[in-house]
Amino acid sequence: MGRPCRQLEAAAARAVLGAADTLLFDCDGVLWRGDAAVAGAPGTLARLEAAGKRLCYVTNNSSRTRQAYADKLRRLGFPAAAPRQVFGSAYCAARYLRQALPPGAAAYVLGGAAPLDPAVRAVLVGFDEHFAYAKLCQALRYLLRGDAACLLVGTNRDHRLPLEGGAAIPGTGCLVKAVEVAAEREAFIIGKPSRYIFDCVVSEFDIDPARTIMVGDRLDTDILMGNTCGLTTILTLTGVSTLEEVKGHQESDCPARKNLIPDYYVDSIADLLPALED
Ligand code: PLP
Ligand code: CA
Repeated sequence: MGRPCRQLEAAAARAVLGAADTLLFDCDGVLWRGDAAVAGAPGTLARLEAAGKRLCYVTNNSSRTRQAYADKLRRLGFPAAAPRQVFGSAYCAARYLRQALPPGAAAYVLGGAAPLDPAVRAVLVGFDEHFAYAKLCQALRYLLRGDAACLLVGTNRDHRLPLEGGAAIPGTGCLVKAVEVAAEREAFIIGKPSRYIFDCVVSEFDIDPARTIMVGDRLDTDILMGNTCGLTTILTLTGVSTLEEVKGHQESDCPARKNLIPDYYVDSIADLLPALED
């Protein structure tokens, strides 16, 4: 049976939230848009925390540290978060490379300028506003070097980052694709929908997937990851994906598209507030 994608109204929300001890929040499009908090979102998170829920933040944005996210949450009026509650694709990529590479090995990060370094054993592609043909050449030189295996790792595949008014800028997925095409191989992806980023959360906290909710605004990253990792999924309509897209997946015969359908949706996470009032 497919997921129903039911609107989560107060009575159902009380039951769904009551059955969970952890909520994973995507950030942009869920908690804030750019630099403005979604109306009612800080209050919702404060109530969730007061109700004893563990809150974690799972973002594909590779351009900020854990501390920068903790600072932004505080600045926008969300409950205080420790950096260890934040799982960004840059932090998780560093963790992956630390485990995958031998001691003393280095990575070529698209974003840094460098001469060819013999210690490099990985090319890491993240969000790089200064992406250039010269960097693509440098990445390929490492990946083709015959003397040692070189990993190819991408922080995420988001192909577009939306701006207000329907505008968008190209996302990291475009840069990962450029390197993959040149190298004729596929990158290992850290961020959503890869389960690696969820494994990072599991490695730092005592997580039971059956008692964990993933809240996101994108079907192809947040909801897909939540569904494939056995979490309860909630789509919020304050960001990228729409109910029309959900409908398209529901009406499709393609089995792979069923994992893009959330269990529930809300117009905004502020809609969860009534379920949290006594
Ligand atoms: N990558 C970059 C560079 C971004 O700026 C953003 C959003 O601001 C994202 C990815 C998507 O982040 P999230 O997973 O929090 O929606
Ligand atoms: Ca998002």
